[in-house]
Amino acid sequence: MNVVSGWVDRLKCPSCDGSVSQEEATVVCRTCDITYPVRAGVVQMLSEEQGALAETFNAQYDALRLKEGWASDIPGFYDALPYRDLTGRNTDAWRQRVRSYLLVRRWLENTVGTGRISILDYGAGNGWLSRLLADRYDLAAMDINEGNHGLSAIPESSRLYTVIQSSLESIPLHSDCCDAVVANASLHYTSAPEGALEEIHRILKPGGVVVIMDSPTYSSTQGVRQAMKRSHSYFCQMGFPDLANHYAGLTDALFKANDLFLYRPLRKDFSTLELLKKRFREAMGHPESARFPVWTGRKL
Ligand SMILES: [Zn+2]
Repeated sequence: MNVVSGWVDRLKCPSCDGSVSQEEATVVCRTCDITYPVRAGVVQMLSEEQGALAETFNAQYDALRLKEGWASDIPGFYDALPYRDLTGRNTDAWRQRVRSYLLVRRWLENTVGTGRISILDYGAGNGWLSRLLADRYDLAAMDINEGNHGLSAIPESSRLYTVIQSSLESIPLHSDCCDAVVANASLHYTSAPEGALEEIHRILKPGGVVVIMDSPTYSSTQGVRQAMKRSHSYFCQMGFPDLANHYAGLTDALFKANDLFLYRPLRKDFSTLELLKKRFREAMGHPESARFPVWTGRKL
């Protein structure tokens, strides 16, 4: 498919906010003339400075994910996701991802309908969710990682969706241009989730919807602080201390501030059993465990 397809009119220049045109293997800003490359079907909407930062971050992130088994060089690994984890190392977690996907898909069909609405997959990672939703919806997958374990993990020839490399903090799309945004296990990788939600709000059409799924969420700021400490020592232990700067904890309070969206919980955690186990452990004096809720929000 045409790499940028229907999304070219929605794209805006990260440097000057101007509209862009697609010219063969590039996207060009009509106002400031800056050229953004399209490589292997990925339109790279980054300023020079963002590009340099992205390169360092992506190399570290890929190396960590390969160690953890969330990324893999096994042939066919990305094609098999989310239903089969060919590394065999995160099988249960992928099962939970499938459940989250099915829940969100059903909600989208019941709430926003089965028409070909536009959806931005915000922090799409390797693009597995975009691939599944693109059978019915007009999808764009956006992530900072454009490499072989990021947006290029699914080959260009099998993608039925648009692919945009961008930082999560500023979305290179015009205001009021999108029907829905799905933030799948990604909101906690933004440096400031409140700011990220403002950006998501900006690009949604009036009445548009956001789905925030599978991000670790805590009830208290103390819970978040403890989690960030644990993450920091984990990243250090794995040899990538810088990655800790890209991790933010979410609190329930984020979804109680109904100024941008009217939020509704679709699910409190991966399962009721999971939730009960966590409550029991906490009652026994353990620190607060993350919940993995699914929140939906309608743009106000
Ligand atoms: Zn420009």
